[in-house]
Amino acid sequence: MLEKLREIEKAARESLAAVTDQTALETWRVTHLGRSSPLMQVFSGLSQLSKEDRPTVGQAANKVKVALESAFAERAEAVKAAMLAKSLEEEELDVTLPGRGVRVGHLHPSTQQLRRVVDIFAEMGFQVYTSREVETDEINFQALNFPPHHPARELQDTLYVDAGERGDNPVLLRTHTSPGQIRAMREASAEHPDDPPPIRIVLPGMCFRSEQITARSEVQFNQVEGLAVGENITFADLKGTLSDFARRMFGQNVRTRFRAAYFPFTEPSAEMDVECFVCGGAGCPVCKQSGWLEILGCGMVHPVVLENGGYDPLRYTGYAFGMGPERQLMLRYKIDDIRYFWGNDVRFLEQF
Ligand SMILES: [Zn+2]
Repeated sequence: MLEKLREIEKAARESLAAVTDQTALETWRVTHLGRSSPLMQVFSGLSQLSKEDRPTVGQAANKVKVALESAFAERAEAVKAAMLAKSLEEEELDVTLPGRGVRVGHLHPSTQQLRRVVDIFAEMGFQVYTSREVETDEINFQALNFPPHHPARELQDTLYVDAGERGDNPVLLRTHTSPGQIRAMREASAEHPDDPPPIRIVLPGMCFRSEQITARSEVQFNQVEGLAVGENITFADLKGTLSDFARRMFGQNVRTRFRAAYFPFTEPSAEMDVECFVCGGAGCPVCKQSGWLEILGCGMVHPVVLENGGYDPLRYTGYAFGMGPERQLMLRYKIDDIRYFWGNDVRFLEQF
């Protein structure tokens, strides 16, 4: 019986030496260590042996089992390492290949233009004042010289948040950035009611109007507003500052002109045109053959508005202006439809 065990071990070891892959390993395990393998049959035959032989054969069979198991484990390790080496060699991983790039986003074109405008005014000494997008009728209209039922409101019909029981002072989405003027003036004058400090601010942000959405008009758009209040501020300061802005934004040689206009919160009021930067003033479809492009509205702050902000209009004067970054981009890049700005189409946004 001991002789037979030696043969079993020898045959198993020989066969194990030829094993080179996972499948063969598993087959070997079933054949030589499985329930019906010759070695296991020795174990199940122990009961038929004589009492004297039983311990010797049992111990010897156990030894063979342990030896074969450890040989198997060793072989399994070797097969695994060989397979790994082989796959590394065959697949030829090239670590010098460039990786896949991460898609990096960028600021929305409106935000980019908004920042260009703000940067220029910051260089001229203006501070940024951000105000709320949800306003009361009082601050958005009345304090800016649009009394209830005033016809000028027709130009800026809005979206109401709460029109219920607030009478003439409903809560609404601001139709322009101008209510920020009132908030800024009231903040400054509240601290020093008898001697309010001068103000030089720009107010960028989103505005909303109840418009029919077309290629020319949207229910939301950005504005940058500017406000300068102090003693001895004149229309010449307004013209100088805005002409300088135009040169910094559109080029040192750009010419500007001011046309009389009407806004309820400025008096006198004007619109500023810059020489068409598409055709250089010769006339083209973008400027409708006029050679000029309207860029912004402006004027001297209306005395009623100064008073509503806590500034004595007999002592203080000021100017204000407002412009739309989307309109500037549309002119600059010949974009013919304002709806692209909020359409979230990456093909449009990627171009900026
Ligand atoms: Zn032109």
